[in-house]
Amino acid sequence: NQGRNTWHWYEETSKKMAPEMDYSYLRLELMEALREEQFSLFYQPLIDPVTGLVKGVEALIRWFHPERGYIFPDVFIPLAERTGQIIAIGQWVLKKACRDIAEWNRTHQSQLTVSVNISPLQFRRTGFLQELEYALTISELPAELLKIEITEGMVIIGADRAIEILKSIRNLGVQVAIDDFGTGYSSLSYLRRLPINQIKLDRSFIEHLTENDQDAAIVQSIIHLAHQLDLEVVAEGVETLKQASFLHQQGCDLVQGYFYARPAPLSDLKLTYIALAD
Ligand code: C2E
Ligand code: CA
Ligand code: CA
Ligand code: CA
Repeated sequence: NQGRNTWHWYEETSKKMAPEMDYSYLRLELMEALREEQFSLFYQPLIDPVTGLVKGVEALIRWFHPERGYIFPDVFIPLAERTGQIIAIGQWVLKKACRDIAEWNRTHQSQLTVSVNISPLQFRRTGFLQELEYALTISELPAELLKIEITEGMVIIGADRAIEILKSIRNLGVQVAIDDFGTGYSSLSYLRRLPINQIKLDRSFIEHLTENDQDAAIVQSIIHLAHQLDLEVVAEGVETLKQASFLHQQGCDLVQGYFYARPAPLSDLKLTYIALAD
C-alpha cells in the first residue's frame, strides 16, 4: 500500500512544480536508485498444475526508496519510460535475473526458466539483441531457459520491424511470451504468424472465471485454440482453488498467482509445491 501511495506523491509534486522540473527530479532519483542499488528483483513461480512443480519464475522489479519505502513497478516503470531510464533499468533487470536463476539452477540442479518483462522502448532499440546475448554469456544461463515477456501492442505497431526483432531473438534460442493476452486488439490467428512460444492470459479473464460463464467460455476457447496453434498457455493472477481447478481441467499449461505463491525474494522461493487442484 505504501508503494501505491507514492503515485499520489508524484501527482502532488507535479502539480506544484513545472512538469520539466518534476522529471529532472525524478530522473535524479532514478539515477540514484540505480547507483545505490535500491532496486531488487522479486520472483513469482510458474507452476505446472498437473504435478504442482515449479517450472519457472517471473522476475518482478521492486524499488526500495530510503524515505518512501517500496514503490511498485506500475508506478515507476511508466515514468522511467518517459525519462528513457527504462533502458538502463531494463539492462540491470536482464543481467540480474539471468545471473540469479543460473546460480539457483546450479545450486539446486534444476532447470527453472526465468521470464523477464521487456518494455517497448527496450525491445525496439538497436542493441537489444546484444544485451540479451551479453546477459546469457555472463550468466551462463542456457538461452532456452530465458523467456522475454512482451505485450500485444509491441508487435502490432510497426509489425514488420517487430517480426524481424522476434526472429533474431528466437534464433538466439530465447523464448518469447505475449503478456496480458486478451487486453489488446490482436487475435490468436494474427499472433500465430509471429515466432512466439507462449501466451499469458490476462488476470482480468481469470478474476471472474468461476462466477461468469462468458469469461469461462473465453478462457476455455483461448486455451483450446492456443494449443491447436502449438502455443503454451499461462494463466496469471490465479487466486482461488476454484480458478485453479478450472484451469487444470481445461489443460492450461502453467499457472501463476497468489493462490500458489506471491512474488518474493529468491531466497524465499520453495522449489516444489503440492498440487492443490485436482
Ligand atoms: P505483469 O507483467 O502483468 O505482472 C503481473 C503483476 O501481477 C505483478 O505485479 C504481480 O505481482 C501481480 N500478481 C501476481 N499474482 C497475482 C494475483 O494472484 N493477484 C493479483 N491481484 N496480482 C497478482 P507487479 O509486480 O506490481 O508488476 C506490475 C507490472 O509492472 C508488471 O505487470 C509489468 O508490466 C511491470 N514490471 C514489473 N517488473 C518489470 C521489469 O523488470 N521491467 C519492466 N519493463 N516492467 C516490469
Ligand atoms: Ca509479465
Ligand atoms: Ca501480465
Ligand atoms: Ca499486467
